[in-house]
Amino acid sequence: MQGICLLGATGSIGQSTLDIIAQHPDKFTLVSASANESVDKMAAICRQFLPQRVVMGSQRAREALAEQCNDLAISFEWGEASLDSIACDAAVDQVMAAIMGFAGLKPTLAGIRSGKRILLANKESLVTAGKLFMDEVARNNVALLPIDSEHNAIYQSLPQTPQGAHQKDVAKIILTASGGPFRNFSLKEMKQVTPEQACKHPNWSMGQKISIDSASLMNKGLELIEACWLFDVTPDDVDVVVHPESIIHSMVSYRDGSVIAQMGNPDMKIPIAYGMSWPDRIETNVAPLSLIDVAKLNFEAPDKQRFPNLRLAAEAWYMGGTAMAVLNATNEVAVAAFLQKKMGFLDIAALNESVLTKANIMPVRTLDDVFEADKVARQLANDIIFRGCFS
Ligand code: NAD
Ligand code: MG
Repeated sequence: MQGICLLGATGSIGQSTLDIIAQHPDKFTLVSASANESVDKMAAICRQFLPQRVVMGSQRAREALAEQCNDLAISFEWGEASLDSIACDAAVDQVMAAIMGFAGLKPTLAGIRSGKRILLANKESLVTAGKLFMDEVARNNVALLPIDSEHNAIYQSLPQTPQGAHQKDVAKIILTASGGPFRNFSLKEMKQVTPEQACKHPNWSMGQKISIDSASLMNKGLELIEACWLFDVTPDDVDVVVHPESIIHSMVSYRDGSVIAQMGNPDMKIPIAYGMSWPDRIETNVAPLSLIDVAKLNFEAPDKQRFPNLRLAAEAWYMGGTAMAVLNATNEVAVAAFLQKKMGFLDIAALNESVLTKANIMPVRTLDDVFEADKVARQLANDIIFRGCFS
């Protein structure tokens, strides 16, 4: 029986993870869970799964939840220290890192330091703290299973050893991208799009932030950096290919000309189940892939003119140091401002470029360097939004 700590239980990845746990009660048990503010959703999770500990993002949310669930023998907690501590409990074998954004970094690191299997959905934590994060993974000898569908596909397409996947004989990594809802929009049309339009992803149902990131291709930019850290390559070793059907989740091209791809219907339960059961496989209730129904798979090059975020991510990687934390922080501020209709869709990339150019990029020696870079970039980004001049 594997004990699961589910960070970000009320989100989209959280829900898919709970579905897998519910489908395999003989294999997995929910030991602990966290959410920021969603009290009602968490109350339902508590009733169904009876975890030992639950951590909310505020005292107010903790009180409201404890009141709704006062008949349940659960420890209700709140705040950062509790969040770190549930990732370290002795009863936990696997930590699902599914908090949205930079807020996921500290508890994910806590799980790594206590030697748990890490199921990594929260790409922002790896993007911002890349080298420190991977050094901790190596030092603590933990299994790091990528949950992001593309990285999970790459992992599955690499040669396997008992310790995990390795990069022997790899020529290129081919990272696929759906292209998002605005793949065929002109710049003029993209200027006018609303948050509602941007949140409607053609193939995947996801949280708001990652949906906006998919529409601006920042998601693919973050994933490019994520792939570089996970698989020890550089952006030049990764080809991004737009594949609008999202059936091939990514590929590995080998030195002999072979290309290995992982395919499946676009449903996050597949990579989640793979990570939880690795190196074995378990059933999911995802419909089997029918290639006859899909009929056609299309591929095209990404347009870096209309979607500058992809170029900015590669630039941030080569700048190194705090550049990736700066880009991520700016983008989190930009997405929130776009969702609140304080700025337009194209201003997201403009703001990202502006802050990445203006910020002082420093080497990353400790985690404090990452937090400082994150803080300064957020201030700079908010300043620019306040003045309304993005480039
Ligand atoms: P979501 O918005 O649906 O859920 C986010 C979860 O994190 C919620 O439980 C929320 O309560 C919690 N949370 C948000 N802010 C928090 C904070 N400041 N402190 C503590 N908890 C906080 O997001 P999602 O779509 O499930 O994505 C979660 C992560 O997984 C993101 O990093 C995303 O990039 C990644 N991911 C998601 C998908 C997907 O299909 N949804 C695919 C690949 C990767
Ligand atoms: Mg992805």
